Amino acid sequence: MRCPFCRHSDCRVIDSREVDDGQATRRRRSCGACGRRFTTVEEPVLAVVKRSGVTEPFSREKVVNGVRRACQGRPVDEDALQQLAHRVEESIRAGGTAEIPSHEVGLAILGPLRELDEVAYLRFASVYRSFSSIEDFEKEIAELRRIHGSGATAPPN
Ligand SMILES: [Zn+2]
Repeated sequence: MRCPFCRHSDCRVIDSREVDDGQATRRRRSCGACGRRFTTVEEPVLAVVKRSGVTEPFSREKVVNGVRRACQGRPVDEDALQQLAHRVEESIRAGGTAEIPSHEVGLAILGPLRELDEVAYLRFASVYRSFSSIEDFEKEIAELRRIHGSGATAPPN
């Protein structure tokens, strides 16, 4: 690791600790030439493979931005968005692969978003699953009703 100040390559690690629930390691380093100190953060790379084949690092922020659009005008606060993105990341990491196709990131969003806000879920799902007709919405809404289970609303007599 080169010193960011003098570009010297001999830097000593003086402290090392896990951060972010052990998902990253933060190291304090001291430059052997100029003596200045700096910090490095190492974390395993979780890559998202886009449809075009391009890979980019997984970003919680991108998840939040995508979901935020679907939540416009809904009673969903920033905290809930952050928690959702955290859950998405956890489930992706739990999948055990370092490279995830972007549509799987979308899939991982659907579940937690449905629990969070059903209207936002429908909006997100309509874009993500490219709903093309009223029937697609009807099917999805029927599925939501099914999840709510019988007995939630009594059938009219
Ligand atoms: Zn230096």
